[in-house]
Amino acid sequence: MLERDLAGLADCRAGYLIRVGEEGVADNGQGGIVQSPDRWPQGAIALGRWQGEPLAVIAETGEAHWPTPREWLARLDERDFALISTALQVVRWARDHRFCGRCGGAMRQRPGEFMMQCTKCGLRSYPRISPCIITLVTWRDRLLLARSPRFAAGRFSTLAGFIEPGESAEEAVRREVLEEVGVQVGRISYYRSQSWPMPHSLMLGFYAEAASRELRVDGVEIEAADWFDANTLPGLPPSYSISRGLIENFLRGTARRE
Ligand SMILES: [Zn+2]
Repeated sequence: MLERDLAGLADCRAGYLIRVGEEGVADNGQGGIVQSPDRWPQGAIALGRWQGEPLAVIAETGEAHWPTPREWLARLDERDFALISTALQVVRWARDHRFCGRCGGAMRQRPGEFMMQCTKCGLRSYPRISPCIITLVTWRDRLLLARSPRFAAGRFSTLAGFIEPGESAEEAVRREVLEEVGVQVGRISYYRSQSWPMPHSLMLGFYAEAASRELRVDGVEIEAADWFDANTLPGLPPSYSISRGLIENFLRGTARRE
């Protein structure tokens, strides 16, 4: 488990390291992403403590073919997701916030915090986290699953979308479901959340009971949608995704009721 006590690591220069490239994350030679303890290279950013020892991330360029984040998520234990998710998001933040968005001045990280501050005007920048809703719409024992044109052939999934400024998560669930498949939603209940570092989403999982059943697919974000049951399931999202968790958890519940 990653202990997020950054304040105690402000002067730390050695410990475990995660190496993040432009496309992938380095293997440690034993199937994991955490490299053996050593002196940290220049530019390493402390992330916290892992197994009691300091852990940092370094951004590298020109890597060979390191596994992609998605390949790692399929491979790692779920308890290690926080490591790769934190490393990827902190590296992206440091890379994309080198200059102030207000005055163009250089930004510098404050040691012991995930905070960059403009050296000219003082504007502060924190790692960006973009909240998204992801929802399984249900009607009795039926699941509403849809596919985006970007999906692999035959795969369907739950509906998802970014929360817009000024909107609550529940409002985003109702809006996204109506926009994407034309269904009105009744009762909404919270499931759980998952950090999704491609590139910096926080997925908030919900169940939504359908108040109407007719589907009207938007044809842009969604190219097909349908009602399924446990015996007629299409190809599903990968096992590590919260989308799959929403589906499996619902199917376990309906199996118990029979
Ligand atoms: Zn500035």
